[in-house]
Parts: sequence; structure tokens; C-alpha cells
Amino acid sequence: MNKAVFLDRDGTVIQHVHYLTEPGKVEIVPGGVEALKKLQEAAYLLVVVSNQSLVGRGYGTVDDVEAVNARMLELLEAGGVRIDCVKYCPHLPGEDCPNRKPMPGMPIEAARELGIDLAQSVMIGDNLSDVEAGRNAGCQMNILIQPAGASDYRPSLGATVVASGLPEAVDIVLHV
Ligand SMILES: [Mg+2]
Ligand SMILES: [Zn+2]
Repeated sequence: MNKAVFLDRDGTVIQHVHYLTEPGKVEIVPGGVEALKKLQEAAYLLVVVSNQSLVGRGYGTVDDVEAVNARMLELLEAGGVRIDCVKYCPHLPGEDCPNRKPMPGMPIEAARELGIDLAQSVMIGDNLSDVEAGRNAGCQMNILIQPAGASDYRPSLGATVVASGLPEAVDIVLHV
């Protein structure tokens, strides 16, 4: 069985841009390439799982989402990082899609496709819905990225770990 790190896209792997539809605006977070490379070298599969309700809201198309994803992959590949799988849910909260985080559909589906043991895997994201999706999927650790100055979610989080950004989250995963 493989182990994986599930990664939220916006605000976790790439800089958050509200309703991002332009590939030209894609920027990897600071230190993100080096951090993901460390996970890859430690034999973690890398799976991006992203809510993209902008499609359901009519602010962009599935093609826009895929163009942004492709640009993200291109920037990561230029740095030597290969993402094993990218999944996104285009639906609105009210549509009750089992893939929309905090529902665990995307990690569970990736686990089935790639032979991932969820109990050895980790979720990293900058929203409570990310860590809840990881918890709902049965991930062993769920890390909330909470940049300095953001409002403090910690009291309600129970066993969830908090990190300042993707590099620190990765260091927590690798215990360095
Ligand atoms: Mg996010
Ligand atoms: Zn969906």
C-alpha cells in the first residue's frame, strides 16, 4: 500500500486568488516546491483535492479549472515535483456532492485508484473543511495551515495540527 499527502490547492499549494480562472495568475506558495519535493523523496504520493464551486456558481468553467491545474502542474514539474493525481469538485455546497470537502469522496476515490492506505496518509489544507475531509476519510494526521495574522481556529480543532504554511506542514509530516 502507498501512503499519500492530500493537498488542498488554493491557499495551500498555490497562492489564494478569489475565484481563480487565469493560469497566468498561478503562483506556487513560498517554499512550496522544495517542501513537496521532500515529501516525494520520502515516498509519499501527492494528491491535490480541491473544491471549485466557482463552476457551479458560474464564475468559471471546468476548462478554466483544468487550465489553472495544468499551470500549477507545469510550475511544480519545472521544480522537479510530480503530482500523482489532481481531483476537484465543481459543485455548490447545496448540491450535496460526496466529493465536496468536508466530505471525504476525493481522498477515498484517490485511495482506491492509487492503492493508498488512508490510515498512513495526511491531509494538509488552509480551511477547516480540508482537515474535516481528511478526518472523515480516516487520515492519520490533518494539518491546518493558518498563516500568521489569520483568525485563530485552534480552540475547536481537537487533535488537528496547525502549521504556518506548507513548508512547516511538511516538516511536521516528516518529523524534522
Ligand atoms: Mg484552500
Ligand atoms: Zn462534486
